[in-house]
Amino acid sequence: MEKYDIVIVGAGLGGLLCGNILSREGLKVCLLEKNKMIGGCIQSFAKNKTIFNTGLNYTEGLGEGEVLNRYFKYFNIIDKLKLKRLDIEGFERISFSEDNNEYPFAQGYNNFIESLAEYFPKEKENLKIYIKDMKHVCNSFPFYTLNDSMDLSAIGLNKLQTNAYNYLSSITSNNKLNNILGGMNSLYAGVQAETPLYIHSLINYTFIKSAWRIIDGGSQLAARIADEIYKNGGIIRLSKKVVSFGGDKKVDYVDTEDGERIYAKKIISNIHPKVTLDIVDRNINKMAFKSRISSLENTIGMFSLYIVLKKKQFPYLNYNHHHFSKVNTWTTNYNEAYWPEHYMLYTPSNSNSDIWANGIIAITYMKYNEVKKWEDTYTENRSDEYLEFKQRKAEKLIDFIEVKFPRLREKIECYYTSTPLTYRDYTATPNGSAYGILKKQDNLLSTIITPRSRIENLYFTGQNLNMHGILGVSIGAALTCSEIIGRDYLFNKIKKA
Ligand SMILES: Cc1cc2nc3c(=O)[nH]c(=O)nc-3n(C[C@H](O)[C@H](O)[C@H](O)COP(=O)(O)OP(=O)(O)OC[C@H]3O[C@@H](n4cnc5c(N)ncnc54)[C@H](O)[C@@H]3O)c2cc1C
Repeated sequence: MEKYDIVIVGAGLGGLLCGNILSREGLKVCLLEKNKMIGGCIQSFAKNKTIFNTGLNYTEGLGEGEVLNRYFKYFNIIDKLKLKRLDIEGFERISFSEDNNEYPFAQGYNNFIESLAEYFPKEKENLKIYIKDMKHVCNSFPFYTLNDSMDLSAIGLNKLQTNAYNYLSSITSNNKLNNILGGMNSLYAGVQAETPLYIHSLINYTFIKSAWRIIDGGSQLAARIADEIYKNGGIIRLSKKVVSFGGDKKVDYVDTEDGERIYAKKIISNIHPKVTLDIVDRNINKMAFKSRISSLENTIGMFSLYIVLKKKQFPYLNYNHHHFSKVNTWTTNYNEAYWPEHYMLYTPSNSNSDIWANGIIAITYMKYNEVKKWEDTYTENRSDEYLEFKQRKAEKLIDFIEVKFPRLREKIECYYTSTPLTYRDYTATPNGSAYGILKKQDNLLSTIITPRSRIENLYFTGQNLNMHGILGVSIGAALTCSEIIGRDYLFNKIKKA
Protein backbone atom coordinates (compact mmCIF):
# COMPACT_ATOMS: atom_id res chain seq x y z
CA MET A 1 0.00 0.00 0.00
CA GLU A 2 1.46 3.35 -1.13
CA LYS A 3 1.34 6.02 1.55
CA TYR A 4 2.07 9.67 0.79
CA ASP A 5 3.57 12.05 3.33
CA ILE A 6 0.94 14.59 2.38
CA VAL A 7 -2.31 14.37 0.45
CA ILE A 8 -3.81 17.74 -0.47
CA VAL A 9 -7.50 17.77 -1.38
CA GLY A 10 -8.14 20.49 -3.97
CA ALA A 11 -5.71 22.12 -6.38
CA GLY A 12 -6.92 25.69 -5.94
CA LEU A 13 -4.33 28.33 -5.10
CA GLY A 14 -4.11 27.22 -1.46
CA GLY A 15 -3.61 23.54 -2.27
CA LEU A 16 -1.09 24.27 -5.00
CA LEU A 17 0.98 26.54 -2.77
CA CYS A 18 1.04 23.95 0.02
CA GLY A 19 2.14 21.42 -2.61
CA ASN A 20 4.89 23.79 -3.72
CA ILE A 21 6.19 24.39 -0.19
CA LEU A 22 6.02 20.81 1.06
CA SER A 23 7.34 19.09 -2.09
CA ARG A 24 10.43 21.30 -2.06
CA GLU A 25 11.05 20.11 1.51
CA GLY A 26 11.36 16.58 0.10
CA LEU A 27 7.96 15.39 1.27
CA LYS A 28 6.06 12.98 -0.96
CA VAL A 29 3.05 15.06 -1.96
CA CYS A 30 -0.09 14.18 -3.92
CA LEU A 31 -2.81 16.70 -4.84
CA LEU A 32 -6.32 15.49 -5.71
CA GLU A 33 -8.48 17.83 -7.75
CA LYS A 34 -12.12 17.14 -8.65
CA ASN A 35 -12.06 19.22 -11.84
CA LYS A 36 -10.29 18.54 -15.12
CA MET A 37 -8.20 21.66 -14.53
CA ILE A 38 -6.15 22.96 -11.63
CA GLY A 39 -6.58 26.44 -10.19
CA GLY A 40 -10.06 26.60 -8.64
CA CYS A 41 -10.93 30.31 -8.58
CA ILE A 42 -7.78 31.30 -10.46
CA GLN A 43 -8.70 29.38 -13.61
CA SER A 44 -8.98 31.25 -16.89
CA PHE A 45 -11.06 30.21 -19.89
CA ALA A 46 -11.11 31.20 -23.55
CA LYS A 47 -14.19 32.09 -25.59
CA ASN A 48 -13.94 33.29 -29.20
CA LYS A 49 -10.13 33.51 -28.78
CA THR A 50 -10.57 35.86 -25.80
CA ILE A 51 -9.10 34.89 -22.44
CA PHE A 52 -11.20 35.55 -19.34
CA ASN A 53 -10.32 35.18 -15.66
CA THR A 54 -12.71 33.64 -13.19
CA GLY A 55 -11.22 35.01 -9.98
CA LEU A 56 -7.82 36.56 -10.49
CA ASN A 57 -8.47 39.95 -11.96
CA TYR A 58 -5.42 41.60 -10.53
CA THR A 59 -3.04 41.24 -7.65
CA GLU A 60 -0.91 43.31 -5.36
CA GLY A 61 2.49 43.83 -3.71
CA LEU A 62 4.59 42.33 -6.50
CA GLY A 63 7.15 45.16 -6.71
CA GLU A 64 10.72 44.35 -5.66
CA GLY A 65 10.90 43.86 -1.87
CA GLU A 66 7.11 43.99 -1.42
CA VAL A 67 5.20 41.31 0.44
CA LEU A 68 3.84 39.13 -2.37
CA ASN A 69 7.05 39.52 -4.36
CA ARG A 70 8.90 37.99 -1.40
CA TYR A 71 6.46 35.10 -1.17
CA PHE A 72 6.53 34.54 -4.96
CA LYS A 73 10.35 34.55 -4.89
CA TYR A 74 10.23 31.86 -2.26
CA PHE A 75 7.70 29.89 -4.36
CA ASN A 76 10.20 30.27 -7.26
CA ILE A 77 7.59 31.75 -9.60
CA ILE A 78 8.21 35.50 -9.58
CA ASP A 79 10.34 35.53 -12.76
CA LYS A 80 8.01 33.18 -14.58
CA LEU A 81 4.86 35.31 -14.68
CA LYS A 82 4.00 37.79 -17.47
CA LEU A 83 3.02 40.82 -15.40
CA LYS A 84 1.68 44.21 -16.28
CA ARG A 85 1.66 47.00 -13.75
CA LEU A 86 -1.57 48.95 -13.67
CA ASP A 87 -1.71 52.71 -14.18
CA ILE A 88 0.44 54.37 -11.50
CA GLU A 89 -1.78 57.46 -11.50
CA GLY A 90 -5.01 55.50 -11.01
CA PHE A 91 -5.10 51.72 -10.90
CA GLU A 92 -8.62 52.01 -9.52
CA ARG A 93 -11.14 54.64 -10.60
CA ILE A 94 -14.20 55.08 -8.45
CA SER A 95 -17.28 56.80 -9.82
CA PHE A 96 -20.87 57.52 -8.82
CA SER A 97 -23.88 58.17 -11.02
CA GLU A 98 -24.41 61.59 -9.42
CA ASP A 99 -21.23 63.19 -10.83
CA ASN A 100 -18.82 62.72 -13.73
CA ASN A 101 -15.63 62.41 -11.71
CA GLU A 102 -13.52 59.29 -11.71
CA TYR A 103 -11.76 59.38 -8.36
CA PRO A 104 -8.36 57.72 -8.77
CA PHE A 105 -6.45 55.41 -6.46
CA ALA A 106 -2.86 56.20 -7.41
CA GLN A 107 -0.03 53.78 -6.61
CA GLY A 108 2.50 54.84 -3.98
CA TYR A 109 1.32 56.22 -0.66
CA ASN A 110 2.20 59.90 -1.25
CA ASN A 111 0.86 59.70 -4.75
CA PHE A 112 -2.39 58.23 -3.41
CA ILE A 113 -2.76 61.04 -0.85
CA GLU A 114 -1.88 63.81 -3.31
CA SER A 115 -4.19 62.63 -6.07
CA LEU A 116 -7.24 62.25 -3.83
CA ALA A 117 -6.38 65.55 -2.10
CA GLU A 118 -6.82 67.27 -5.47
CA TYR A 119 -10.52 66.43 -5.18
CA PHE A 120 -10.67 66.85 -1.38
CA PRO A 121 -8.04 69.49 -0.46
CA LYS A 122 -9.34 69.87 3.10
CA GLU A 123 -8.97 66.13 3.70
CA LYS A 124 -5.22 65.82 3.05
CA GLU A 125 -4.29 65.39 6.72
CA ASN A 126 -7.03 62.78 7.14
CA LEU A 127 -5.73 60.87 4.13
CA LYS A 128 -2.28 60.86 5.73
CA ILE A 129 -3.78 59.46 8.92
CA TYR A 130 -5.63 56.80 6.89
CA ILE A 131 -2.41 55.55 5.25
CA LYS A 132 -0.55 55.65 8.58
CA ASP A 133 -3.29 53.66 10.33
CA MET A 134 -3.43 51.03 7.57
CA LYS A 135 0.34 50.63 7.78
CA HIS A 136 0.03 50.18 11.52
CA VAL A 137 -2.64 47.51 11.13
CA CYS A 138 -0.64 45.62 8.46
CA ASN A 139 2.53 45.83 10.51
CA SER A 140 0.77 43.98 13.31
CA PHE A 141 1.01 40.83 11.20
CA PRO A 142 4.47 39.28 11.35
CA PHE A 143 3.63 37.02 8.42
CA TYR A 144 2.86 40.14 6.38
CA THR A 145 5.95 42.11 7.29
CA LEU A 146 8.11 38.95 7.44
CA ASN A 147 10.27 40.80 9.93
CA ASP A 148 9.78 38.95 13.16
CA SER A 149 9.13 35.44 14.25
CA MET A 150 5.67 34.08 13.53
CA ASP A 151 3.81 34.85 16.71
CA LEU A 152 0.11 35.25 16.13
CA SER A 153 -0.35 36.40 19.69
CA ALA A 154 1.59 39.54 18.72
CA ILE A 155 -1.48 40.78 16.86
CA GLY A 156 -3.39 43.16 19.11
CA LEU A 157 -6.96 41.92 19.24
CA ASN A 158 -8.29 45.47 19.43
CA LYS A 159 -6.81 46.25 16.03
CA LEU A 160 -8.42 43.20 14.53
CA GLN A 161 -11.75 43.93 16.15
CA THR A 162 -12.11 47.40 14.67
CA ASN A 163 -14.87 47.66 12.07
CA ALA A 164 -13.71 48.93 8.65
CA TYR A 165 -16.78 51.06 7.91
CA ASN A 166 -16.82 52.66 11.37
CA TYR A 167 -13.13 53.36 11.10
CA LEU A 168 -13.53 55.08 7.70
CA SER A 169 -16.42 57.15 9.08
CA SER A 170 -14.23 58.16 12.01
CA ILE A 171 -11.35 59.53 9.96
CA THR A 172 -13.40 61.79 7.74
CA SER A 173 -16.81 63.42 7.98
CA ASN A 174 -16.80 63.80 4.21
CA ASN A 175 -19.31 61.16 3.14
CA LYS A 176 -18.07 60.97 -0.43
CA LEU A 177 -14.43 60.49 0.51
CA ASN A 178 -15.40 57.95 3.15
CA ASN A 179 -17.21 55.93 0.45
CA ILE A 180 -14.40 56.35 -2.07
CA LEU A 181 -12.00 54.83 0.45
CA GLY A 182 -14.41 51.89 0.64
CA GLY A 183 -14.55 51.75 -3.19
CA MET A 184 -12.57 48.50 -3.49
CA ASN A 185 -15.27 46.79 -1.45
CA SER A 186 -15.95 44.17 -4.14
CA LEU A 187 -12.46 42.81 -3.51
CA TYR A 188 -13.54 41.69 -0.07
CA ALA A 189 -17.37 41.80 -0.21
CA GLY A 190 -17.32 43.98 2.86
CA VAL A 191 -20.40 44.06 5.05
CA GLN A 192 -20.90 47.46 6.64
CA ALA A 193 -21.58 46.24 10.17
CA GLU A 194 -19.21 43.27 10.20
CA THR A 195 -16.06 43.49 8.10
CA PRO A 196 -12.93 44.05 10.17
CA LEU A 197 -10.49 46.84 9.36
CA TYR A 198 -7.65 44.33 9.00
CA ILE A 199 -9.23 42.85 5.83
CA HIS A 200 -9.69 46.33 4.31
CA SER A 201 -6.16 47.36 5.34
CA LEU A 202 -4.23 44.32 4.14
CA ILE A 203 -5.93 44.58 0.75
CA ASN A 204 -5.99 48.36 0.23
CA TYR A 205 -2.56 49.10 1.71
CA THR A 206 -0.86 46.41 -0.39
CA PHE A 207 -2.65 47.34 -3.63
CA ILE A 208 -1.86 51.02 -3.13
CA LYS A 209 1.82 50.04 -2.96
CA SER A 210 1.57 48.30 -6.33
CA ALA A 211 -1.14 46.68 -8.49
CA TRP A 212 -0.61 44.16 -11.30
CA ARG A 213 -2.40 42.12 -13.91
CA ILE A 214 -1.25 38.83 -15.33
CA ILE A 215 -0.98 39.16 -19.11
CA ASP A 216 -2.93 36.51 -21.08
CA GLY A 217 -4.79 35.05 -18.09
CA GLY A 218 -4.43 34.50 -14.37
CA SER A 219 -4.33 30.72 -14.73
CA GLN A 220 -0.61 31.09 -15.44
CA LEU A 221 -0.16 31.51 -11.73
CA ALA A 222 -1.59 28.03 -11.11
CA ALA A 223 0.45 26.56 -13.98
CA ARG A 224 3.75 27.98 -12.73
CA ILE A 225 3.13 26.75 -9.17
CA ALA A 226 2.27 23.31 -10.56
CA ASP A 227 5.53 23.29 -12.60
CA GLU A 228 7.42 23.60 -9.31
CA ILE A 229 5.44 20.77 -7.73
CA TYR A 230 6.23 18.44 -10.65
CA LYS A 231 9.89 19.51 -10.57
CA ASN A 232 10.05 18.55 -6.90
CA GLY A 233 8.55 15.12 -7.58
CA GLY A 234 4.99 15.94 -6.46
CA ILE A 235 1.90 14.52 -8.15
CA ILE A 236 -1.32 16.27 -9.19
CA ARG A 237 -4.25 14.02 -10.08
CA LEU A 238 -7.19 15.58 -11.93
CA SER A 239 -10.84 14.44 -12.01
CA LYS A 240 -10.27 12.97 -8.54
CA LYS A 241 -13.17 14.10 -6.40
CA VAL A 242 -12.70 13.25 -2.73
CA VAL A 243 -15.91 11.94 -1.18
CA SER A 244 -14.72 11.10 2.33
CA PHE A 245 -11.93 11.53 4.85
CA GLY A 246 -11.50 8.41 6.99
CA GLY A 247 -9.27 6.61 9.45
CA ASP A 248 -9.02 5.14 12.89
CA LYS A 249 -9.07 7.87 15.58
CA LYS A 250 -7.30 10.21 13.12
CA VAL A 251 -7.52 10.98 9.42
CA ASP A 252 -5.44 8.38 7.56
CA TYR A 253 -6.90 8.29 4.07
CA VAL A 254 -9.35 9.79 1.62
CA ASP A 255 -11.75 7.97 -0.67
CA THR A 256 -12.35 9.27 -4.15
CA GLU A 257 -15.58 9.17 -6.12
CA ASP A 258 -14.12 6.60 -8.52
CA GLY A 259 -13.49 4.17 -5.66
CA GLU A 260 -9.81 4.66 -4.84
CA ARG A 261 -8.54 4.86 -1.24
CA ILE A 262 -5.41 7.03 -0.90
CA TYR A 263 -3.37 6.98 2.33
CA ALA A 264 -1.25 9.78 3.77
CA LYS A 265 0.55 10.68 7.00
CA LYS A 266 -1.11 14.08 6.93
CA ILE A 267 -4.00 15.46 4.90
CA ILE A 268 -4.56 19.10 3.96
CA SER A 269 -7.99 20.18 2.84
CA ASN A 270 -8.09 23.09 0.39
CA ILE A 271 -11.87 22.83 0.23
CA HIS A 272 -14.22 24.89 2.36
CA PRO A 273 -14.03 23.75 6.03
CA LYS A 274 -17.79 23.12 6.21
CA VAL A 275 -17.71 21.00 3.05
CA THR A 276 -14.66 19.17 4.41
CA LEU A 277 -16.28 18.37 7.76
CA ASP A 278 -19.46 17.22 6.01
CA ILE A 279 -17.45 14.34 4.51
CA VAL A 280 -15.26 13.38 7.48
CA ASP A 281 -16.31 9.92 8.70
CA ARG A 282 -18.58 10.01 11.76
CA ASN A 283 -16.23 7.93 13.91
CA ILE A 284 -13.44 10.55 13.75
CA ASN A 285 -15.47 13.72 13.29
CA LYS A 286 -15.82 16.17 16.19
CA MET A 287 -19.49 17.10 16.19
CA ALA A 288 -19.20 20.34 18.21
CA PHE A 289 -16.41 21.54 15.90
CA LYS A 290 -18.44 20.57 12.84
CA SER A 291 -21.54 22.37 14.00
CA ARG A 292 -19.57 25.50 14.94
CA ILE A 293 -17.94 25.65 11.48
CA SER A 294 -21.25 24.87 9.73
CA SER A 295 -22.94 27.79 11.47
CA LEU A 296 -20.50 30.38 10.10
CA GLU A 297 -21.81 32.79 7.49
CA ASN A 298 -20.13 33.08 4.09
CA THR A 299 -19.49 36.13 1.92
CA ILE A 300 -21.95 36.92 -0.84
CA GLY A 301 -21.40 35.50 -4.37
CA MET A 302 -20.89 37.29 -7.67
CA PHE A 303 -22.58 37.68 -11.03
CA SER A 304 -19.91 37.94 -13.73
CA LEU A 305 -20.36 39.19 -17.26
CA TYR A 306 -17.71 38.16 -19.80
CA ILE A 307 -17.95 40.27 -22.95
CA VAL A 308 -16.20 39.34 -26.20
CA LEU A 309 -15.63 42.65 -27.99
CA LYS A 310 -15.64 43.37 -31.69
CA LYS A 311 -12.10 44.06 -32.88
CA LYS A 312 -10.58 47.53 -32.32
CA GLN A 313 -13.75 48.99 -30.82
CA PHE A 314 -13.02 49.40 -27.12
CA PRO A 315 -9.73 50.64 -25.62
CA TYR A 316 -7.61 48.57 -23.29
CA LEU A 317 -8.04 50.20 -19.86
CA ASN A 318 -4.99 49.86 -17.66
CA TYR A 319 -7.12 50.24 -14.56
CA ASN A 320 -10.27 48.88 -12.92
CA HIS A 321 -13.44 50.87 -12.89
CA HIS A 322 -15.74 50.68 -9.85
CA HIS A 323 -19.05 52.39 -10.45
CA PHE A 324 -21.86 52.91 -7.92
CA SER A 325 -25.40 54.16 -8.51
CA LYS A 326 -25.43 55.91 -5.12
CA VAL A 327 -22.76 57.33 -2.85
CA ASN A 328 -22.63 54.05 -0.99
CA THR A 329 -19.84 51.61 -1.70
CA TRP A 330 -21.08 49.07 0.88
CA THR A 331 -23.59 47.35 -1.38
CA THR A 332 -23.52 43.67 -0.40
CA ASN A 333 -27.00 44.01 1.05
CA TYR A 334 -28.40 45.38 -2.20
CA ASN A 335 -32.07 45.87 -2.96
CA GLU A 336 -33.06 43.43 -5.73
CA ALA A 337 -35.43 45.97 -7.27
CA TYR A 338 -32.51 48.33 -7.90
CA TRP A 339 -29.91 45.71 -8.88
CA PRO A 340 -27.20 46.30 -9.96
CA GLU A 341 -26.13 49.06 -7.61
CA HIS A 342 -22.48 48.64 -8.49
CA TYR A 343 -20.02 46.93 -10.81
CA MET A 344 -16.30 46.46 -11.09
CA LEU A 345 -15.26 46.47 -14.74
CA TYR A 346 -11.93 45.88 -16.41
CA THR A 347 -10.35 44.77 -19.65
CA PRO A 348 -8.02 41.75 -19.22
CA SER A 349 -4.53 42.46 -20.55
CA ASN A 350 -3.48 40.57 -23.63
CA SER A 351 -0.07 40.35 -25.30
CA ASN A 352 -1.48 41.28 -28.74
CA SER A 353 -2.34 44.89 -27.98
CA ASP A 354 -1.88 47.57 -25.35
CA ILE A 355 -4.27 49.81 -27.24
CA TRP A 356 -7.37 47.68 -27.87
CA ALA A 357 -9.18 45.33 -25.52
CA ASN A 358 -10.55 42.05 -26.81
CA GLY A 359 -12.75 41.46 -23.78
CA ILE A 360 -14.41 43.06 -20.76
CA ILE A 361 -15.14 41.47 -17.39
CA ALA A 362 -17.74 43.10 -15.16
CA ILE A 363 -18.65 41.70 -11.77
CA THR A 364 -21.30 42.64 -9.26
CA TYR A 365 -22.81 41.01 -6.19
CA MET A 366 -25.53 38.40 -6.46
CA LYS A 367 -27.43 36.95 -3.49
CA TYR A 368 -27.78 33.19 -3.46
CA ASN A 369 -31.53 33.61 -2.99
CA GLU A 370 -31.76 34.92 -6.54
CA VAL A 371 -30.55 31.57 -7.94
CA LYS A 372 -31.67 29.22 -5.16
CA LYS A 373 -34.57 27.83 -7.14
CA TRP A 374 -32.11 26.19 -9.55
CA GLU A 375 -29.81 24.80 -6.86
CA ASP A 376 -30.68 21.21 -7.72
CA THR A 377 -29.36 21.65 -11.24
CA TYR A 378 -25.72 21.58 -12.33
CA THR A 379 -23.59 23.64 -14.63
CA GLU A 380 -24.04 23.13 -18.38
CA ASN A 381 -27.27 21.27 -17.68
CA ARG A 382 -29.68 23.93 -16.49
CA SER A 383 -33.14 24.96 -17.59
CA ASP A 384 -34.07 27.58 -20.18
CA GLU A 385 -35.63 29.54 -17.34
CA TYR A 386 -32.22 29.87 -15.68
CA LEU A 387 -30.59 30.88 -18.97
CA GLU A 388 -33.31 33.53 -19.46
CA PHE A 389 -32.71 34.77 -15.91
CA LYS A 390 -28.99 35.15 -16.64
CA GLN A 391 -29.68 36.98 -19.89
CA ARG A 392 -32.10 39.36 -18.18
CA LYS A 393 -29.49 40.12 -15.54
CA ALA A 394 -26.76 40.60 -18.14
CA GLU A 395 -28.90 43.07 -20.08
CA LYS A 396 -29.65 45.04 -16.89
CA LEU A 397 -25.96 45.16 -16.08
CA ILE A 398 -25.09 46.31 -19.62
CA ASP A 399 -27.74 49.07 -19.34
CA PHE A 400 -26.05 50.22 -16.15
CA ILE A 401 -22.55 50.03 -17.66
CA GLU A 402 -23.71 52.11 -20.63
CA VAL A 403 -24.30 55.02 -18.26
CA LYS A 404 -20.49 55.33 -18.02
CA PHE A 405 -19.55 53.65 -21.31
CA PRO A 406 -22.21 54.83 -23.80
CA ARG A 407 -23.09 52.56 -26.75
CA LEU A 408 -21.16 49.62 -25.32
CA ARG A 409 -23.76 47.27 -26.85
CA GLU A 410 -22.68 48.18 -30.37
CA LYS A 411 -19.16 46.95 -29.58
CA ILE A 412 -20.19 43.57 -28.19
CA GLU A 413 -19.67 40.45 -30.33
CA CYS A 414 -21.22 38.15 -27.71
CA TYR A 415 -21.19 37.61 -23.98
CA TYR A 416 -21.19 34.86 -21.35
CA THR A 417 -22.23 34.98 -17.70
CA SER A 418 -21.72 33.16 -14.43
CA THR A 419 -23.66 33.23 -11.16
CA PRO A 420 -22.99 31.98 -7.62
CA LEU A 421 -24.27 28.57 -8.81
CA THR A 422 -21.39 28.42 -11.31
CA TYR A 423 -18.85 28.95 -8.51
CA ARG A 424 -20.63 26.47 -6.27
CA ASP A 425 -20.34 23.83 -8.99
CA TYR A 426 -16.74 24.54 -9.99
CA THR A 427 -15.16 25.15 -6.59
CA ALA A 428 -17.70 23.62 -4.17
CA THR A 429 -17.91 26.75 -2.01
CA PRO A 430 -21.23 26.84 -0.10
CA ASN A 431 -23.82 28.94 -1.92
CA GLY A 432 -21.16 29.97 -4.44
CA SER A 433 -19.72 32.41 -1.92
CA ALA A 434 -16.98 34.49 -3.55
CA TYR A 435 -14.49 34.68 -0.69
CA GLY A 436 -15.55 31.97 1.77
CA ILE A 437 -16.19 32.48 5.47
CA LEU A 438 -17.22 36.04 6.30
CA LYS A 439 -14.81 37.57 8.79
CA LYS A 440 -16.62 39.49 11.53
CA GLN A 441 -14.88 41.95 13.81
CA ASP A 442 -17.17 41.15 16.74
CA ASN A 443 -16.77 37.39 16.41
CA LEU A 444 -13.24 37.29 15.10
CA LEU A 445 -11.80 34.26 16.78
CA SER A 446 -14.68 32.13 15.50
CA THR A 447 -14.48 33.37 11.93
CA ILE A 448 -10.71 32.97 11.50
CA ILE A 449 -10.00 29.30 10.82
CA THR A 450 -6.78 27.87 12.22
CA PRO A 451 -4.79 25.61 9.87
CA ARG A 452 -4.70 22.73 12.35
CA SER A 453 -8.18 21.26 12.63
CA ARG A 454 -9.61 19.59 15.74
CA ILE A 455 -9.20 16.25 14.00
CA GLU A 456 -5.75 14.69 14.19
CA ASN A 457 -3.75 14.74 10.92
CA LEU A 458 -6.28 17.01 9.18
CA TYR A 459 -5.23 20.56 8.23
CA PHE A 460 -7.01 23.37 6.43
CA THR A 461 -5.67 25.82 3.89
CA GLY A 462 -7.07 28.38 1.43
CA GLN A 463 -9.16 31.50 1.60
CA ASN A 464 -11.12 30.55 4.70
CA LEU A 465 -8.18 30.82 7.10
CA ASN A 466 -7.20 34.45 7.70
CA MET A 467 -8.01 36.08 4.43
CA HIS A 468 -8.97 35.35 0.80
CA GLY A 469 -7.29 36.60 -2.37
CA ILE A 470 -3.85 35.91 -3.77
CA LEU A 471 -2.16 37.63 -0.83
CA GLY A 472 -4.37 36.07 1.85
CA VAL A 473 -4.18 32.56 0.41
CA SER A 474 -0.37 32.77 -0.05
CA ILE A 475 0.08 33.74 3.58
CA GLY A 476 -2.48 31.10 4.57
CA ALA A 477 -0.55 28.36 2.72
CA ALA A 478 2.60 29.36 4.58
CA LEU A 479 0.69 29.21 7.87
CA THR A 480 -0.65 25.74 7.07
CA CYS A 481 2.75 24.38 6.07
CA SER A 482 4.42 26.00 9.08
CA GLU A 483 2.24 23.73 11.26
CA ILE A 484 3.80 20.76 9.50
CA ILE A 485 7.46 21.72 8.95
CA GLY A 486 7.91 24.28 11.72
CA ARG A 487 6.98 27.91 11.95
CA ASP A 488 10.39 29.58 12.47
CA TYR A 489 12.03 27.24 9.97
CA LEU A 490 9.60 28.12 7.15
CA PHE A 491 9.44 31.82 7.87
CA ASN A 492 13.20 32.14 7.94
CA LYS A 493 13.28 30.50 4.52
CA ILE A 494 10.67 32.88 3.12
CA LYS A 495 12.46 35.86 4.69
CA LYS A 496 15.76 34.86 3.10
CA ALA A 497 14.36 34.01 -0.37
C1 LIG B 1 -15.33 36.58 -8.89
C2 LIG B 1 -14.06 36.56 -8.11
C3 LIG B 1 -13.08 37.51 -8.37
C4 LIG B 1 -11.88 37.49 -7.65
N1 LIG B 1 -10.91 38.43 -7.95
C5 LIG B 1 -9.74 38.42 -7.26
C6 LIG B 1 -8.71 39.35 -7.58
O1 LIG B 1 -8.84 40.14 -8.51
N2 LIG B 1 -7.57 39.33 -6.84
C7 LIG B 1 -7.39 38.45 -5.80
O2 LIG B 1 -6.35 38.50 -5.13
N3 LIG B 1 -8.36 37.54 -5.48
C8 LIG B 1 -9.51 37.50 -6.20
N4 LIG B 1 -10.48 36.58 -5.90
C9 LIG B 1 -10.27 35.66 -4.75
C10 LIG B 1 -9.34 34.52 -5.07
O3 LIG B 1 -9.55 34.06 -6.38
C11 LIG B 1 -9.61 33.37 -4.08
O4 LIG B 1 -9.55 33.88 -2.76
C12 LIG B 1 -8.61 32.23 -4.17
O5 LIG B 1 -8.31 31.87 -5.50
C13 LIG B 1 -9.19 31.03 -3.41
O6 LIG B 1 -8.29 29.96 -3.43
P1 LIG B 1 -8.55 28.67 -2.56
O7 LIG B 1 -7.40 27.76 -2.82
O8 LIG B 1 -8.82 29.03 -1.17
O9 LIG B 1 -9.92 28.03 -3.05
P2 LIG B 1 -10.50 27.51 -4.47
O10 LIG B 1 -9.97 28.32 -5.59
O11 LIG B 1 -11.98 27.46 -4.29
O12 LIG B 1 -9.94 26.04 -4.61
C14 LIG B 1 -10.54 24.91 -4.06
C15 LIG B 1 -10.23 23.74 -4.99
O13 LIG B 1 -10.72 22.55 -4.38
C16 LIG B 1 -11.35 21.76 -5.39
N5 LIG B 1 -12.30 20.84 -4.75
C17 LIG B 1 -13.48 21.17 -4.13
N6 LIG B 1 -14.07 20.06 -3.65
C18 LIG B 1 -13.25 19.02 -3.93
C19 LIG B 1 -13.33 17.61 -3.69
N7 LIG B 1 -14.36 17.07 -3.01
N8 LIG B 1 -12.31 16.83 -4.13
C20 LIG B 1 -11.26 17.36 -4.81
N9 LIG B 1 -11.15 18.68 -5.10
C21 LIG B 1 -12.14 19.50 -4.65
C22 LIG B 1 -12.01 22.79 -6.27
O14 LIG B 1 -12.35 22.25 -7.55
C23 LIG B 1 -10.93 23.86 -6.33
O15 LIG B 1 -10.00 23.62 -7.37
C24 LIG B 1 -11.67 36.53 -6.63
C25 LIG B 1 -12.65 35.56 -6.37
C26 LIG B 1 -13.83 35.57 -7.10
C27 LIG B 1 -14.87 34.52 -6.80
